Amino acid sequence: MEFTEHELQRYTRQIMIPEFGLEGQQKIKSAKVFVAGVGGLGSISSYYLTAGGIGHLTLVDRDKVDYSNLNRQIIHWTEDKGKWKTASGMRKLESLNPHASIHAIQAEITEENCEELVGDCSIIVDAMDNMKGRRILNATSIKMGIPYVYGGVHQLDGMATVFIPGKTPCLECVFPRHEGEAASNPPGVLGPVPGLIACIQSIETMKLILGLEGLLTGRLLCFCGFDMTFREFKINTNPSCPVCGTN
Ligand SMILES: [Zn+2]
Repeated sequence: MEFTEHELQRYTRQIMIPEFGLEGQQKIKSAKVFVAGVGGLGSISSYYLTAGGIGHLTLVDRDKVDYSNLNRQIIHWTEDKGKWKTASGMRKLESLNPHASIHAIQAEITEENCEELVGDCSIIVDAMDNMKGRRILNATSIKMGIPYVYGGVHQLDGMATVFIPGKTPCLECVFPRHEGEAASNPPGVLGPVPGLIACIQSIETMKLILGLEGLLTGRLLCFCGFDMTFREFKINTNPSCPVCGTN
C-alpha cells in the first residue's frame, strides 16, 4: 500500500517511532476499527484514530448533539446543537483527514444488529455510556473473536482495559450483571476525564493493530482525578462466566 507525499508528511512523527515505522503505518492504514458511540470517549478516540491514519472507521451513535454534551464531547461544537452526532463527528473527521474512510451510522446498537454494524472491522472501541450497550459489545467481541478496548468514566474517575477473546477475561467476568444497573442515571463527568481514558484506548488500539506487546490485557487501569493517581488491578477470567466461560 503506497502513501502519497502528503500522507508521509502527515504521519512523519509517528513513523519515526521505531516500533511503528512505515510498515506499522501501512498496518494502520489497512485497519478497520469500530467506534461504538460518538460522545465523550468517542470524540477523542475517533479523532486520534483518524489523525493517526486508521484507514477505515465505523462510527455508531443514536443521539443528537445537546448543549449538555459540550463540556466533554469535543468533536461537537455549539453550532452542531440538534444535529446527529454521527453527522457532526463525520464532518470533523473527514476535514481532519481526507485519507480516512469514515462510515457513520445513526442507530442504536442492539443484540440483533451489533455484529452487522461491526461488519469487517477487526477491533471494537467502547465509547458507550451504559452497561447495556457494553454487554452487547462484549458478547459481539466474543462471538466475532475480535478485541474489545474498554473505557468507562464517572465524575473524576476512569477505567480502561483490553479484552481479547480466549486470552483475557471478558467484561462480564470483571463486571458481573447486577440488578438495577439498567436504571442507573448517567453520572456527572468532568470533561478531560473521558479525554484521558479515550487517549489510553486509542494508544491500545494502535498497539493492537501493530501487534505490539505491553497491552493493557488482564489489567484494569483505574484513574482517580481527585487524588491524581493511576492504580492497576489484575483481573481474572471467571470460569463460570455466562458469556465467555466454558462451564
Ligand atoms: Zn467472561
